[in-house]
Amino acid sequence: MDKIFLYNTLTRSKEQLDPIAPPTVTTYSCGPTVYNYAHIGNLRTYVFMDELRRALKTAGYTTKSVMNITDVGHLTSDADDGEDKMQSAAKKQHKTPEEIAKMYSDVFFKDLARLNILMPEIIAKATDNIDEMIAFVVELCKLGYGYETDDGIYFDISKFGDYGKLSRCNIEDALAGARVAVNTQKRHPADFALWKKAEKNHIMQWQSPWGMGYPGWHIECSAMSKKFLGERFDIHTGGVDHIPIHHENEIAQSEALLGHPAVNMWIHGEFMLVDGGKMSKSLGNVYTIDDLIEKGYSPLAFRYFCMNTHYRNKLNFTFEGLSAAQTAYERLCASVALCADAPENNAAKSAIDACVQDIKNAVYDDLNYPLALGKLWTLVKLEPCREIYDAVAELDGLLGLQLHVKREKQADDIPAEVSSIAEERWQARLNRDWAKSDALRAELDKLGYAVLDGKTGYELKKK
Ligand code: AMP
Ligand code: ZN
Repeated sequence: MDKIFLYNTLTRSKEQLDPIAPPTVTTYSCGPTVYNYAHIGNLRTYVFMDELRRALKTAGYTTKSVMNITDVGHLTSDADDGEDKMQSAAKKQHKTPEEIAKMYSDVFFKDLARLNILMPEIIAKATDNIDEMIAFVVELCKLGYGYETDDGIYFDISKFGDYGKLSRCNIEDALAGARVAVNTQKRHPADFALWKKAEKNHIMQWQSPWGMGYPGWHIECSAMSKKFLGERFDIHTGGVDHIPIHHENEIAQSEALLGHPAVNMWIHGEFMLVDGGKMSKSLGNVYTIDDLIEKGYSPLAFRYFCMNTHYRNKLNFTFEGLSAAQTAYERLCASVALCADAPENNAAKSAIDACVQDIKNAVYDDLNYPLALGKLWTLVKLEPCREIYDAVAELDGLLGLQLHVKREKQADDIPAEVSSIAEERWQARLNRDWAKSDALRAELDKLGYAVLDGKTGYELKKK
């Protein structure tokens, strides 16, 4: 296994990854709240998740990754104010919360496939894991961290001495920063809800020891990471906006219950800005992947655009920037295509190997994909030969840009799940993982699709 270094938000330093049970690396990524379409900022965070997972796989690790789907409990404010986002979307669109969740998760998975983001091994829906969340809250109450008020069960942050260690604010800061409590029964304004009691007209509610209710937002990630990854796992990812509330609360819940940290490394992706500012509906600058496609941009050019800025730097989205990325991306594809039909050149081997190693080294150093792309340009600018094509095809496991894939237009009606399996299978083939490739072919077969492999790509056919 190759060494990988990552910047840990908790220690504010770059550390060598030291997995708990190599060759497996366990990761948990906070997933979307599926009440709306994912915007390009959200998707930047999932490109970052994918960069990490591809780096781990290329370094020789096996990933066991969980991403949650929040389909209950996330209120309009990340603290505990406002209405449940799912419920309010359901009311506005005259649908059930389940219909809303299904509709937006399907589009989200399609977006991931279009960005060539590999699916995490485990997708965990909050509403499928309510029992585990209730058990978690019961335990926290037993241990004295949870207390009941008229409207729910709250976590007493003053009982958790390490509160604020991720964002490096102390309990006094958290208390001073919290808004005046709406719920006057809370012991401290910054105490957060573990469980909410449901009013009669609340659409989503479950039986619990405290009557009918629904989980707080933060508890889902503590309960589901414990269920799927165990009491300790390697890496937790998310966007930087989650550091001060969501992840701080997750740490408090998990460590209070377990008596030790659950996460070894916390890594966070910086935000995407649009035209130098925040994305907002009122400014009309909240774009989806479909918006970009409509304007003539390819999702993979957007992926290239994201990868060209380090995940820990802010990325300012402009259409000029995206156009430049698309031009660069198309030039890369053209250079690689030239090499596909070029003669072999044994003498170029050492220069090519050196470039490939430079690319991997850049990524292994805290996912420095911008540097890796620079080295990729050095590689494709060498005298065209077949070996460059082979090297780029193999590097696709790390880059996910499909620079080597001959783009034959595929029918648009292929479901996201099918194209994502097909893509995973192609990656498995490139990694010479024939067993996995065969298993995924069988899955496609069951779904009614045949896959025809070519030299530079594959074609999907409905049977
Ligand atoms: P949400 O669906 O609101 O829970 O957000 C899903 C993910 O997108 C979270 O990991 C957020 O941190 C991330 N996110 C939200 N806005 C942005 C943005 N402007 N740039 C990058 N990531 C974002
Ligand atoms: Zn989370």
